[in-house]
Amino acid sequence: MIVIRIGQLADQLGVHRNTIRNWIRSGRLPARSMSGKRYLLTESDFTRICHEFGIDRSALKLKHVPGAPLMSREMGLLEENVRRLNPPSGRLLADPSWGDACMTCGGCASACPIAGVDGMDPRKLVRMAVLGLEEDLLASQWPWKCTLCGKCERACPQGIELVALVHRVRGLRDRARVPGPLHKGVLMCLERGNNLGIPGGDFVSLVEEMASEMVEEGYEGFQSPIDVTGANILLPVNSKEPFAEPDDMKHWWKIFYAAGESWTIPSINWEGVNWGYFTGDERSLRTIVGRLVENMYRLECKTLLLPDGGHSYFATRYGLTRWFSQDLKNFKVISIFDLLLDYIESGRIKIDPSRHRKLTTYTDPCNCGRKSLKIFGHGYFDEARAIVRKCAPNFVDLYPTGADNYCCGAGGGAWAMPFKEERVFYGRFKARQIENSGAGLVVAACHNCRDQIMKSLRKEYDLRVDVKYIWELVADSLVTNGNH
Ligand code: SF4
Ligand code: SF4
Repeated sequence: MIVIRIGQLADQLGVHRNTIRNWIRSGRLPARSMSGKRYLLTESDFTRICHEFGIDRSALKLKHVPGAPLMSREMGLLEENVRRLNPPSGRLLADPSWGDACMTCGGCASACPIAGVDGMDPRKLVRMAVLGLEEDLLASQWPWKCTLCGKCERACPQGIELVALVHRVRGLRDRARVPGPLHKGVLMCLERGNNLGIPGGDFVSLVEEMASEMVEEGYEGFQSPIDVTGANILLPVNSKEPFAEPDDMKHWWKIFYAAGESWTIPSINWEGVNWGYFTGDERSLRTIVGRLVENMYRLECKTLLLPDGGHSYFATRYGLTRWFSQDLKNFKVISIFDLLLDYIESGRIKIDPSRHRKLTTYTDPCNCGRKSLKIFGHGYFDEARAIVRKCAPNFVDLYPTGADNYCCGAGGGAWAMPFKEERVFYGRFKARQIENSGAGLVVAACHNCRDQIMKSLRKEYDLRVDVKYIWELVADSLVTNGNH
């Protein structure tokens, strides 16, 4: 982390002080204010700004402070944006003038990969809402085939909040008519603390068994992370991992081991994903996020890690910002990107860039990218690429990229919903992007992106690529001293 004063930075970059203040206010320079008119920012943000201005950062005199970067600086910053998403009303549109700004230009429809499916598109969605065709909208399956990707919003010149509209339509449907297993997963999570209903004792036994395996694999002294009081980081878990792919849990464990991190997994209410977001069930969403907050207090942890860049990141951050902003004074919240980059840049973990020689690309999850940029004022584009490039320097970007990247087709709950044909159809854009890039390895920061590309698009579109999570890429690149 770097400590700066506005005047000092303005002089060094050759711009006016107000320019720096505007950057901070707009989120272009994500700095957190400290006492004495000083600001704190991450090494990567600072490096990016220097790069933009063609400045040799090594020539600048800077004050560095140890510690992980905080996301708390952003939490609450755009609280109003989050609140606006769901007005407290039982009707679809609390304010009928909501869609007046829509010019019916069709920009949203041309950007939407499933426009035309079921004879629907986002422009029609808006018109139906404005015309009060609420019953027809609630009866339609189309809002459940939408991946909440936000491409339509990005194309809209009038700032119409289409994702919020779809979210609202979903939330107003009778719970018995929520497609697929999503609502059952929400109920299971409320009852048993995870979407798949894994009994508490089974989960704890599995983690303890796997901790012993880590020792056998050469991770000397590795201990079960369950309920470690006073740990720095609390790591929520995606229940599909203990349920079906338990070895995938070890990627984070290896990174924490190499970093010498103090961390824990709670024995109860450890679910990292929140299907309440997918089903528009705000009450359940809030309860599930609240349980993570309770775990932070129960285990006296200092930092909550949002465990991916997909909907776990977005839903938890949305819930924290909307209902628990007061609690954010008592603990930090950190993204995987801030944490991994901090470990790498501070030398806490060492990376061997020769392990991944294939041409490698990165697919931006909509949630930590385009949607995060819009709602929270910052999208994790550069940080993710910096991490991937450290591990796999032979890098190529997809086109389009960053905030304009395409959804994989499995977002918004689509991976779990019974609309496979539409999901695969939607994924044609991602498949084409990957094929055109020539990459042999695709890195994903979201569980659904990874599963959709690895388990579905590869087969459906004959893609010859490997797929890894970004944290898996880092774990596989670790330089360690032991015999593992
Ligand atoms: S959010 Fe994505 S899938 Fe849904 S309407 Fe908009 S562009 Fe289409
Ligand atoms: S892009 Fe915006 S203004 Fe144009 S039709 Fe879609 S919602 Fe309306």
